[in-house]
Amino acid sequence: MVDRRAFLKTSLLGASALALAGRVSADVAAPASKAVAAKVISTWDFGVAANRAAWAVLDKGGHALDAVETGVQVPEADLKNHSVGRAGYPDRDGRVTLDASIMDADGNCGAVAALEHIAHPILVARRVMERTPHVLLVGDGALQFALEQGFKKEELLTPESEKAWHEWLKTAHYQPSANSEVRDYGKTGLPGGHDNHDTIGMLALDAQGRLAGACTTSGMAWKLHGRVGDSPIIGAGLYVDGEIGAATSTGVGEEVIRNAGSFLVVELMRQGRTPQEACHEAVMRIVKRRPDAAKDLQVGFLAMNRHGDVGAWAIQPGFSYAVCDAQRQDTLLPAKSVY
Ligand code: ASP
Repeated sequence: MVDRRAFLKTSLLGASALALAGRVSADVAAPASKAVAAKVISTWDFGVAANRAAWAVLDKGGHALDAVETGVQVPEADLKNHSVGRAGYPDRDGRVTLDASIMDADGNCGAVAALEHIAHPILVARRVMERTPHVLLVGDGALQFALEQGFKKEELLTPESEKAWHEWLKTAHYQPSANSEVRDYGKTGLPGGHDNHDTIGMLALDAQGRLAGACTTSGMAWKLHGRVGDSPIIGAGLYVDGEIGAATSTGVGEEVIRNAGSFLVVELMRQGRTPQEACHEAVMRIVKRRPDAAKDLQVGFLAMNRHGDVGAWAIQPGFSYAVCDAQRQDTLLPAKSVY
């Protein structure tokens, strides 16, 4: 998290931010091209490396679904990334529980939630999609399925994550309560404040015009054991409709679930909004519902329509997304924000 913020400070602020902002507008304003050009986009700065891996698949004429599955495995494996995959920070009880989902343009999808001991939940999500009649497996059942599928059981809590968890325990004041105040994430220092989120959501369009998406996270650090965020919930953290486009989200999953966020973004595109307009409207839906809480929490949406036009919007500044296509590699753009 600290790394990401430092990175954003150095790479997005100042003169370079102006240049990047110009590229955002150009990107959003670009008319939909008739010829399909492959493209992959993903959330946050770690999306740059993830996109590179996905692009290697797309560039060879590969399937968008394979591209997103390959791409998001990069942050899942990154030991410095404490918000996705094997080095993700644990829950309140010190257990690393991972959430992931994957979806193609035809409505095929699979997901796992609160999965422990498996380093690449996205691979298990795809197996759920392709080898079961189900969409979502959770907890012990998801682990049992993963082991039956031959995945290796591992200890995911790294020494660094364990240390951070012990530090958090010293100051933790997060107690489950029916008190509505516990929903004011940022103010009370609860999970989901400004500095306690990050997920990779990735959307790809391949050269044959097929869309796909993947989303994977360790969720909020220090969450209650059993808490599931938006990322593995189809329609919340991820949604793909081959006729329209795809969307994914990052930030406080509870707010995204309440508003069926990614589904909403795709439906707004169906009604004629550009990806950028759709992301903006979905963000404003969250802000309007809980204006006070929204001042302190982050949610970001990222979308791509079937022509490859891209948009993003967030509640707070700082949300960035990575774009990769034949013209530009390793490009990180700042999303516009409400505040
Ligand atoms: N959306 C994820 C969740 O709520 C985490 C994040 O993106 O920060 O689990």
